[in-house]
Amino acid sequence: MKTEICSCKGLNTNCKKCFGSGYIQSNTPQKKVGKQSDKKQNKKNQIESNIPDNIETLSKNEIEEIAIKIISSLDLKSKKQMQILNSIPFNTTTFRRDFGAKFEILESIEEEKQHLRNQLLTIDQEIVSKNYRFNFRFKHFLSDKDVDVTSNRHLKELIREYKKIKN
Ligand SMILES: [Zn+2]
Repeated sequence: MKTEICSCKGLNTNCKKCFGSGYIQSNTPQKKVGKQSDKKQNKKNQIESNIPDNIETLSKNEIEEIAIKIISSLDLKSKKQMQILNSIPFNTTTFRRDFGAKFEILESIEEEKQHLRNQLLTIDQEIVSKNYRFNFRFKHFLSDKDVDVTSNRHLKELIREYKKIKN
């Protein structure tokens, strides 16, 4: 049996393949090559931009809608990241090895968040150039944080900080 990462990365709680866990058990290694390319295809689709080419012709409301969409997507992905972080036993010595799949998901969610942040930056430039005023706020602690998945110390610190603001 091998644990694979579901194409939805656990972001879809109604997922038929992983049921929201983000992992699929697979015992057919031959199919792996095909699955891998499926995964890449899915990733490409997910990274599709929220920002249309005609951004400068959009109305204030349309700009606002896009910004809200990007921000809620960042919040959702951040929430998932924190759920995964909280499910990793950092006090053991083998957690990197034992939970490799979780770290992979964390990393790929982080890449998606980076794309969303870049899109938000583009939207923000448009908002500034048009002199619009909005009051956007992230709803999740991790939404405006760069998560360095390679650093245990950094991850543990994020969990600690998050607990502090939650209490
Ligand atoms: Zn899934």
